[in-house]
Amino acid sequence: MALWITDECINCDVCEPECPNQAISMGPEIYRIDPGRCTECVGHFDKPQCVQLCPVDCIPVHPEHVESREQLWERYLRLQREAQQPAPEPGAAVAKAAGA
Ligand code: SF4
Ligand code: SF4
Repeated sequence: MALWITDECINCDVCEPECPNQAISMGPEIYRIDPGRCTECVGHFDKPQCVQLCPVDCIPVHPEHVESREQLWERYLRLQREAQQPAPEPGAAVAKAAGA
């Protein structure tokens, strides 16, 4: 995890649709960032979009989870690969399990 949303979040809904990696979602009470999808916007923008837009400045870098630009770039590449893989056919997993 590089960035995280603190409990100062006011659920204004601004950041979620602007994330290029679909890393932001609504949690039980406030929005949260999926550390497996956040690249700090590396690969898309020069600066983290959510940080730029948040009106209450509640998205800091997590001090215990600082990641290098190389790590973030690798995550960006992984997400790109995953996005390019075709979605499995409905029932494909069942057919595979049955030996078809
Ligand atoms: S820094 Fe970028 S990738 Fe990470 S949560 Fe914010 S908008 Fe999404
Ligand atoms: S922009 Fe900031 S205050 Fe608004 S939902 Fe996102 S984290 Fe919360």
